[in-house]
Amino acid sequence: MIAETITRLKAITLLTLIFVTASGMAEDSEIFSDRQFLFPGGRTKALILSYDDGPSQDMRFVELLNRYGVKGTFNVNSGRLGLDAEWMAEFIGEPGQYVTAEELRVVYEGHEIASHTVNHPHVLELNSQQLREEIVHDVELLESLAAAPVESFAYPFGEFDDRIVAVLADTSITNARTVEDTNGFALPDDPLRWHPTVHHTRALPLVDEFLALDSDAPALLMIWGHSWEFDKGAADNRWAVAEAIVEKLGGHEDIWYAGAGELVRYLQAVRNLANVDGLWVNHSSSTVWVRDGNGLRQIPPP
Ligand SMILES: [Zn+2]
Repeated sequence: MIAETITRLKAITLLTLIFVTASGMAEDSEIFSDRQFLFPGGRTKALILSYDDGPSQDMRFVELLNRYGVKGTFNVNSGRLGLDAEWMAEFIGEPGQYVTAEELRVVYEGHEIASHTVNHPHVLELNSQQLREEIVHDVELLESLAAAPVESFAYPFGEFDDRIVAVLADTSITNARTVEDTNGFALPDDPLRWHPTVHHTRALPLVDEFLALDSDAPALLMIWGHSWEFDKGAADNRWAVAEAIVEKLGGHEDIWYAGAGELVRYLQAVRNLANVDGLWVNHSSSTVWVRDGNGLRQIPPP
């Protein structure tokens, strides 16, 4: 009798969950719009470093990130892996090189490998077929080289429009970064048109502001740039500046060191929380952290 009741209750619960999932997906959960959630571990801040082009200087940059326990998202052009970068001479005084296909996994181990098109074209000038090849082939090749899903993208030259976004939305890409600085710490409203906080040359004052934040609302700092700039850039654009930024940002218990794809997945899990009779139900595969009347709470997956 008891077993039968439990079985029946389970069936009712399951039906309720299915119903709420279907209806709850339509709009942001209250917890998202009210910003009552926290990042994994109950952290209030998230940091994303998004660096482009896959130059060999990334090796030195990754070493720097590893020294301070900071994570990077690296937007790589699969068609340029292992090639010389003649164009770099104009910026750093000598030709550069790209990371090779063979070393890709090792160089970026522990960090996110993301797409930046195959050949770094001006995407607005491409026809639909060329556009698909530049994006879809890049994702496929990088996924096979990285042996991991590719979820993130950065627009070459920062150029994009609705047509480019539509092609991205048709792939496994969940987020795409522009080069338009917001100078703010808001979460992305539209991850496929994700405007970063700031380029690293202008980052230091914002890094200090971010570290000083003392709020319950989740805050995101997203810094972008190119590690090749550090070789011979202007005075505000050198390895010493890179180290100053990374050193300041490393080792904070209230910061989640995230990849761009990881952060978007977490926000999706938060959005999909369903409220069942006043209780939050998590249908995603990751634990979601919220703050309510009883303080900090974890809502585990089913
Ligand atoms: Zn680029």
